[in-house]
Amino acid sequence: MSQHPHAFSRYCMHCGQRLVSAVPEGDTRRRLVCMDCGFIHYINPRPVAGIIPVRDSGEILLVRRDIEPRRGAWVFPGGFMDLGETAEETAVRETREEAHLEVEDLRLVGVYTRVLPGIVLIVYEARAVGEASPGHETSETRWFRPEEIPWEELAFDSTLQALRDWAASHGYPVPEEPPSLADH
Ligand SMILES: [Zn+2]
Repeated sequence: MSQHPHAFSRYCMHCGQRLVSAVPEGDTRRRLVCMDCGFIHYINPRPVAGIIPVRDSGEILLVRRDIEPRRGAWVFPGGFMDLGETAEETAVRETREEAHLEVEDLRLVGVYTRVLPGIVLIVYEARAVGEASPGHETSETRWFRPEEIPWEELAFDSTLQALRDWAASHGYPVPEEPPSLADH
């Protein structure tokens, strides 16, 4: 099970001294605390924003991951938010980078939390404009009719949940018993 990468930090990012695990005064949870400068290294979930691109014929675009984890599995475009971006801007940028695809008219599908790695996935659907091709970190792009969604070959449980909610909200078929995917 993957963990938040900052959970393994050993040194203070401010002064370089060793961190210790302690409950700061007035807090209720153990934190990584610098005994030298007092800085508390809070470990917060990281937001990821993605888009289910839909073209006028009703097909959706998925990309095949060319990076770990889950290399080779299908997912919709998405990625970590950068400081200074809105969630919508992240989602549009990632769709451009991973699939060379432009989208418009974003609408929220849902918000999905992967608790252990500490990821909050914000998913939109959007109207696809033009054609797609593989880009950064993807080996293939493919348009799927809703009934063709490869439920057993999706990257993450959160991918499956978002696509399931999207399909159900449009009256498309969804798997009765969603297959369980690796949650990492
Ligand atoms: Zn320090």
